[in-house]
Amino acid sequence: MKPFIDLRIQYENIRDEILECINEILESSNYILGKNVKAFEEEVKSYLGVVDAVGVASGTDALHLALRALDIGRGDEVITTPFTFFATVEAILYVGAKPVFVDIEEETYNIDPEKIEEKITPRTKAIIPVHIFGAPSDMIKINEIAHKYGLKVVEDAAQAFGARIGSKKVGSFGDIGCFSFYPSKNLGCFGDGGMVVTNDLKIAEKIRILRNHGSAGRYVHETVGLNSRLDEIQAGILRVKMKYIDEYNEKRRKKAALYNRFLSDGVKTPVEKDNTYHVYHLYSIRSIFRDKIKETLSNHGIPSVVYYPIPMHLQKAVRFLGYKEGDFPVAESVAKEILSLPIYPELPDEEVYEISQIILRCLKDS
Ligand SMILES: *Cc1c(COP(=O)(O)O)cnc(C)c1O
Repeated sequence: MKPFIDLRIQYENIRDEILECINEILESSNYILGKNVKAFEEEVKSYLGVVDAVGVASGTDALHLALRALDIGRGDEVITTPFTFFATVEAILYVGAKPVFVDIEEETYNIDPEKIEEKITPRTKAIIPVHIFGAPSDMIKINEIAHKYGLKVVEDAAQAFGARIGSKKVGSFGDIGCFSFYPSKNLGCFGDGGMVVTNDLKIAEKIRILRNHGSAGRYVHETVGLNSRLDEIQAGILRVKMKYIDEYNEKRRKKAALYNRFLSDGVKTPVEKDNTYHVYHLYSIRSIFRDKIKETLSNHGIPSVVYYPIPMHLQKAVRFLGYKEGDFPVAESVAKEILSLPIYPELPDEEVYEISQIILRCLKDS
């Protein structure tokens, strides 16, 4: 079986730069909150066009700390999508708040803004849209609703570094934007890492204190925080990769366009809404023949993955919320039909062609 994402080719292309950077950090023996974290925060800040950026230990922590910084907790409700990675929901539960789900759009698989208002109650404090697979959520409509009801917006941009609406990058629309640098993300390090971005200096300051044991100065603790720092080696690696992120995203888009060309008559291919720049962290097709396509690909040594087979409202871990099958028909049917195909910047075009041909042949026999 080939790898679903071949991270090795990318490493080989930038190996000298990476090794030089890691070596320099090892020689300096400065591993925590040093010059690379600071420099990477500055680089992300100017790339995204935000006022501040704070490196943290993971995307999950970024979401958790974002909600802490907004003082969201027990008794509060947070609206989000049932079609996401579980971390979005965990973050809401960590602070003691209640996740309230809203079904997704057929087109983008992102939260449907038209269905948000009916879920708002006096306890609603925030909305967490997720830019799933790298496709921007409708931030214009979501911000309008948030403004109307006085809600905070925390963007889960873990899968969407560099995605944008017009020229404005995701993560910069909400009160807070959260990123993950998990190795397979479209900007990934060689371990865990995350980032919180915001246009509010007070929020940034709170996150800086929370990520470091609630401490602004040495051994003086204002609040109970976390140990959640982005480490120097990961920040150094990310600074190298950051130089290529636009090139990587462009290449992902080219692979996606090629898949679209071959596959759009046979399956539902990803939709790019007008004026949006999708970064294809994942390339996901939708078909009622999903399971058969997956098996056929596997028989040809091609891996494919179902992101995500069980929508959040039907997860055992949140059974206490009382949701049931049928509550979110779009998310539920997408979960039964979605399939992600290999995509990464270095994926050879011939493989895109081969994978597509296998799928088309499989559909002909269906
Ligand atoms: C990966 C991911 C996270 C969590 O990020 P980690 O860095 O793995 O903690 C959160 N939300 C979404 C949508 C993700 O894809």
